[in-house]
Amino acid sequence: MRITFDPEITREGGQVQVQISAPVPAGSAPEYQGTVTGSIVLANAGEALTAQGWLQSEAVVQCSRCANSHTVAVRIDVNEECVLRDLDRPQAYTARESGTVPFPILNGNEIDLSELVRQLLNLHLPLRPLCRADCAGLCPHCGQDLNQRPCQCATDSSDPRLAPLATLRDKQERKLQ
Ligand SMILES: [Zn+2]
Ligand SMILES: [Zn+2]
Repeated sequence: MRITFDPEITREGGQVQVQISAPVPAGSAPEYQGTVTGSIVLANAGEALTAQGWLQSEAVVQCSRCANSHTVAVRIDVNEECVLRDLDRPQAYTARESGTVPFPILNGNEIDLSELVRQLLNLHLPLRPLCRADCAGLCPHCGQDLNQRPCQCATDSSDPRLAPLATLRDKQERKLQ
């Protein structure tokens, strides 16, 4: 994610394109695996630098219904503000007047997008991932994974508060017969 510094970027209107294909940066959420790819154009817009393009990676996450691990493709549209400050210096992370904190992209005498990429990946981790849209989840009573097979709980009125209802239903069914 590092490229040789191109002075073009210091000229208003100047642009530099960065192709990304690298291991997920250190400090990213542990769910991210393997590589991150993408393409970002850095442009000097006078007041600030803009970073526009896309990133793509994969995260291994637990389904929020059945808890099985599955892989999710994460694609991020990038549209951020950057500054030519050294990303190792804490002072580089000061907010602009608008309140936003632009991403520092200098690392010594190179352009380094690893901090930008790390933060964007972490911001876009799927929060309530599902292994599939119609995941049946786990039975709240016995814990059976209902995607694999049904359990007996649905027909078993083991909740004592429901017993009177079950008796009533039994009586009605007998009447109908
Ligand atoms: Zn699931
Ligand atoms: Zn059950």
